[in-house]
Amino acid sequence: MIRQLRCNRVVAGLFLLLWCVPTAGYAWGVAGHRYANALAVDSLPEALRPFYQANRAWIVHHSVDPDQWRNANRSEAPHHFIDLDYFGLEEALRFPQDYWVAVGLYGRETLEKVGLVPWRIGQFYGKLVRAFRERNARAIVEISTFLGHYVADIHVPFHAVTNYDGQLTGQKGIHARFESVLVERQIRLEDLRPQRATRIADPVAAAFAWARRSMKRSADVLRADLQAVARDRSYGDTYYQTLGQQVRRLAIRCLEESGRDLASLWMSAWIDAGRPPLPPPASVHEGEPLDRPTRDPDLPPPSAD
Ligand SMILES: [Zn+2]
Repeated sequence: MIRQLRCNRVVAGLFLLLWCVPTAGYAWGVAGHRYANALAVDSLPEALRPFYQANRAWIVHHSVDPDQWRNANRSEAPHHFIDLDYFGLEEALRFPQDYWVAVGLYGRETLEKVGLVPWRIGQFYGKLVRAFRERNARAIVEISTFLGHYVADIHVPFHAVTNYDGQLTGQKGIHARFESVLVERQIRLEDLRPQRATRIADPVAAAFAWARRSMKRSADVLRADLQAVARDRSYGDTYYQTLGQQVRRLAIRCLEESGRDLASLWMSAWIDAGRPPLPPPASVHEGEPLDRPTRDPDLPPPSAD
């Protein structure tokens, strides 16, 4: 129920932002997701960059689409987070990385409450390897884009903890204050520096490492929130100035690492596919409206009637 509420608020926030209303969204706002995907293109090695660069506008614009999918499909919601500390901090550090081991331990229903994002990343990584092998230009662009959404989500501190909105510590709303409002107010794409992509041998293991890092960072943001609230209980300019002094650099680091880690997955998928020659560097959605909605590639195609 709470998750559904969070979901609805994400979608509501997203639409407000898409309609250019200067109101904050929820979770990584539109800006955060777009920054992460844009940075990933800039973080690629020369062998891959021209093809991705030719499709940059689509990759950036559609970085938020999986949040829209869950409006139509409730089973999409657990793909966006993992509450690593659900069973306690000690369990968090030895959380099973094998999906079937985790299902055996906790049961599928509980695991969906805990969240599935590392395995969603692994699943989309596999799709991307296949798309490279088949030299399917459209699939390479689309799967790369959607993979970017989940990678950006797992780099958000509050997508990795049970206290995902400060609701357990009397700090409700911190999720949006950190990831949407602070980013919208204080970070521009120009503030972010691309970092070199590196080889990732095991995407699911890497995703768990990112989630553990996010979990630890949530404590820093909660501490900064307390300091900022002490100076401005109305969450006005003074609140955000104080919060930004403490954690703007951290938000930048989360976004930069997100871009680098996504580029690393794109590059590793291409290597795992046998380094096939890339399709010509042209936009694969040429002549189509940029904002045409997409759908989860796992869903069956819509029926004709
Ligand atoms: Zn999401």
